[in-house]
Amino acid sequence: MITKPKGTKDIYGIEAKRWQYVSKVIDDIMEKYNYTFIRVPVFESSELFHRSVGDASDIVTKETYDFTDRGGRKMTLRPEGTAGVVRCYIENKMYGLSSQPVKLYYNMPMYRYERPQAGRYREFTQFGYEVIGSDDPLSDAEVISLAVNIYKALGLKEIKVNINSLGDDKSRNNYREALVKHFKPHINELCSDCKERLEKNPLRILDCKVDQDKDVMKSAPKTIDYLNEESKERFEKVKEYLSVMGVNFEVDPKVVRGLDYYNHTVFEIEAKIEGFGAQNVIGGGGRYNALVEELDGPKTPAIGFASGLDRLMLALEMEEVELPINDKVDLFLLYVSDDEKKYAAYLLNDLRKSGFIVETDYLNRSLKAGFKQADRLNSRFIIVLNDEDLKKNEVRIKNTKTKEEDVISVDALIYYLEENINDLYDMDLNIDNYDHKDAD
Ligand code: AMP
Repeated sequence: MITKPKGTKDIYGIEAKRWQYVSKVIDDIMEKYNYTFIRVPVFESSELFHRSVGDASDIVTKETYDFTDRGGRKMTLRPEGTAGVVRCYIENKMYGLSSQPVKLYYNMPMYRYERPQAGRYREFTQFGYEVIGSDDPLSDAEVISLAVNIYKALGLKEIKVNINSLGDDKSRNNYREALVKHFKPHINELCSDCKERLEKNPLRILDCKVDQDKDVMKSAPKTIDYLNEESKERFEKVKEYLSVMGVNFEVDPKVVRGLDYYNHTVFEIEAKIEGFGAQNVIGGGGRYNALVEELDGPKTPAIGFASGLDRLMLALEMEEVELPINDKVDLFLLYVSDDEKKYAAYLLNDLRKSGFIVETDYLNRSLKAGFKQADRLNSRFIIVLNDEDLKKNEVRIKNTKTKEEDVISVDALIYYLEENINDLYDMDLNIDNYDHKDAD
């Protein structure tokens, strides 16, 4: 038997329905914030990730799925979304659009060759978004609050936002120097990766999973102390807007993010869930004002965020959030004999076109077995089509919950179903209190 590759998973059944629901909530909220959906290729030139995510990043040095295609081109399965989106922005000259900034969102699988564990996979899905073309601190605050609103709308209770600022280029360089000065005398206490990072990108040492509990890490200089006045002021504004929006946040100097392209605001969002352990960071992002230019576009400020959907699903499960998943069929159509089957085919088509979830028997079951199947599918109503009723243009419709049966005219069937079924899919968007309609 051929099994799925290590670090991947199959999503089907009720889990697939949960994924679809979560994706729908994301789509709805992104629409309210006026973002448009974007789809970019699963693979891109390897160079794109070397130049954006960075040659010294763990993602690029150890985790990419690289291959040479049959034409000899070096390709990489995308490990994250921003690089592809920015490549697309530049290639399609979106900087020339009259409407700015450009706000894009995605929901797509990513690939990283990591050691698989709970909440960490080799193929995983991220939803994320980018605001390209604005340097306004309001966009930083909005990007953060939007993530919080999505998590809350889905039903996560305790969300913690940790923010930090790396400052502008000057501040970042000053900080970089301070870090090198701090870590150099302790170089032998650091892991071999960090030894290399010291020269290439010392900020990354702060992200190290191996060295994170060492004293030399705890006493490391903090970004905040190296921000110049301008960067400090900017950070203050972001915090002010966040407060106005009612977002609870903490300034955490440890948040520096793993990728090369960040400056100014960086942030991570945790779901505070008991037993969730190291996987409690469900999303993160930051400002990347230099990336568009780095990828040969015009100098363009931007900010983005990405969240792991797999991890978000796990968080929802652990918090026992009940998603309003429809696990019911509206109507199960049975027929006494082949004579009524043609009419069943007609009705099935008609009712489905009217928006109802209708099922029938495709296995030539007995009526008794048909009732059992209707029960398995949680059908709200059952109709057994029989010649006698149909001659009078009537059907007997049985409510499986109340066990009551009504005899109604076929012409009234749609109206009858409309009256008796709350439409689960008619979701009203209220971000503060997303309307979790009862399935019944
Ligand atoms: P990153 O792009 O590394 O900043 O990750 C952003 C989010 O993606 C994280 O907070 C996780 O929720 C998710 N994520 C990153 N790597 C993985 C992975 N290997 N498996 C599952 N989710 C991941």
